[in-house]
Amino acid sequence: NSFIGMGLDADLVAHIKEKLNAEKPTDIQCKAIPLLLNLNRTSSDETIDVDVVIQAETGSGKTLAFLLPIIERLIRATKSIKSNSSLTRSLGTLAIILTPTRELAKQTLSVLESLLSISPSKTTNNRLQHWLVPGVVNGGDKKKSEKARLRKGINLLVSTPGRLLDHLQNTRSFSVENLRWLVLDEADRLLELGFEETLQKIIQMLADRSDAYQKIKQKNCLFDSDTLPKRRQIILCSATLKDDVRRLAGQNLFNPIYING
Ligand code: AMP
Repeated sequence: NSFIGMGLDADLVAHIKEKLNAEKPTDIQCKAIPLLLNLNRTSSDETIDVDVVIQAETGSGKTLAFLLPIIERLIRATKSIKSNSSLTRSLGTLAIILTPTRELAKQTLSVLESLLSISPSKTTNNRLQHWLVPGVVNGGDKKKSEKARLRKGINLLVSTPGRLLDHLQNTRSFSVENLRWLVLDEADRLLELGFEETLQKIIQMLADRSDAYQKIKQKNCLFDSDTLPKRRQIILCSATLKDDVRRLAGQNLFNPIYING
């Protein structure tokens, strides 16, 4: 198995080899990446991104297992887009990654920043970071400055649950209409820290995209409207699958596929 064989962009593969020493995919990456890159069809023939539960410890390569497919999807969607910073704002937030701690949020942000520095050769704009803005809101900054950054547009957002819920409820023009991915990283730790209710509220606020979907169809959006899944994809990562994690997945994910590394 190789990253190229999974269908990842050659420049992305070269980058992770050179900068992150990731030459060969780990077990969990071999399972997760192809699954997260392929669209699936339901029995009623709708296109969906399946919800996935990834059981993997820190150190297994789980972060790249969910970030690489997201970046790859964005590269594919970007081929025809010219670098345009006004797009950043109009697209709003495309992916949210929730982490239990500020520290993990910062680490995940730095991996994202590294991946976005690539210049995929087949795209018309050079660097993804010219128009795709990553950012973190984790309560480390004053709320006012977080609000200002959210209003300007953070396309790929890493956050801790309490702060995210606060902003979803209170920050106007923080747009999640186009949100396609929600990642719950280290879900077992999120629950240990008492975030169950907060997570459920967040998922409920983000879950229903039917209105947004109609708008996207009419708008010139990043993703081709004919193949845009009708549901947001939830990816849950956890080192352990105790009862509380299974319950969270059972109540909030749609027919999830379970994989482990
Ligand atoms: P994680 O499990 O996401 O916390 O990743 C642990 C470490 O493994 C990080 O420092 C990654 O850069 C590194 N890593 C991720 N994928 C690979 C890979 N395929 N080969 C070698 N190292 C990797």
